[in-house]
Amino acid sequence: MVIIDGRAVAQKVRNEAKQAIQENGFWRSPRLVIFRVGDNSASATYVRNKTKASQEVGIEVEDAYLTTCTQESLESSIENMNYDETVDGILVQLPLPAYLDSNKVLNSIDPEKDVDGFTDINMGRLFAGKECTVACTPAGIMRLLDEYNIEIEGKKVVIVGRSNIVGKPMAALMLNRNATVTICHSKTKNLKEECLQADILIVAIGKPKFITADMIKEGAVVVDVGINRDENNKLCGDVDFENVAPRCSFITPVPGGVGPMTVAMLMKNTYEAMKKRYE
Ligand code: NDP
Repeated sequence: MVIIDGRAVAQKVRNEAKQAIQENGFWRSPRLVIFRVGDNSASATYVRNKTKASQEVGIEVEDAYLTTCTQESLESSIENMNYDETVDGILVQLPLPAYLDSNKVLNSIDPEKDVDGFTDINMGRLFAGKECTVACTPAGIMRLLDEYNIEIEGKKVVIVGRSNIVGKPMAALMLNRNATVTICHSKTKNLKEECLQADILIVAIGKPKFITADMIKEGAVVVDVGINRDENNKLCGDVDFENVAPRCSFITPVPGGVGPMTVAMLMKNTYEAMKKRYE
C-alpha cells in the first residue's frame, strides 16, 4: 500500500508555476483578486493560505474583503475586475453569507478569469470535453493520480458526493479520461455495494470517517477529499484511514493528501489564465 504524498506533488506543481512565471517574459506578474464577504474564520484561513502560496510563486494577490455588501454591489465589484486589464484571476471565497445568491455571484465572473472553474460556462465546457478552466480540487486529484502513474482508462470509478465544486467536475474529468463512472449521493441505495465495485473510490461528503474498510474492494485506490474534525478535534477525512488503508493499493491521507493540491492548482490556473489572455 502506498500513501500518496499530496504535499510533495503540490510543491512540484507550485515550483512549476513559479518557474513558468519567472520565465514567462510578460511585463508584469499574474494578479489574482479574492473576494470574501462576512466573518467566517475558516474562509479567512483559506484566503490567508492562498495568499501566502500565491506570493511564494510570484502571483500578486488582492484580498477584496467586504464586511457586508449587497448582491448588486458585489456583482458590480466583480464586473469592474472583469474589465480590469491587470487582473488575471478572480475568485470568490465560499461560502458566501446566506442572503447572497452564490450561483449568481459566481456567474458574474468572466469565464476567462474564473480560476476556480465554477462558472456555468467552464462547467459546461468541462462536461462537453472542451478546453476550460477546471475546478482546483478535482484537477488536483487527477494530477495526484497521474503523478503516481495510476491507470484511469477502463477503470470503474465511484465518486461519493455530487457537489458542483468536487463530485460533478470530478465525474466529468474521469469520463473524459475513459473511466466508467458512478456518482453516489445521500439518496443512493446500497452505498456499500456501489463502493465495493470501485477500482478508484473518490469520497467528498464531509462526514468524518464515514467510509469504512468493509466498503473497499481489495487493492482499490482511495482518494479522500473530506476535511473534518473527529471526536478529539483532530483533522480527519471522510475515510476511516487506519482501517481502510491496509486494503488499498494507494490512498490519500488527511491532512497531506488532496488539500495541498487544491491551493497548488489555483496557482497553475491563475498563471494559465494570464498566459491565455496574452497569447
Ligand atoms: P457538499 O456538502 O456540497 O456535498 C456533499 C455531498 O455528499 C452531497 O452530494 C451529498 O449528497 C453527499 N452526501 C452527504 N451525506 C452522504 C451520505 N451519507 N451518503 C452519500 N452521500 C452523502 O460538500 P463539498 O463537496 O463541498 O465538500 C465535501 C467535503 O470535502 C467536505 O468535508 C469539504 O470540507 C471537503 N473539501 C475539501 C477540499 C480540499 O481541498 N481537500 C475542497 C473542497 C471540499 P446530496 O447531494 O444528496 O445532498
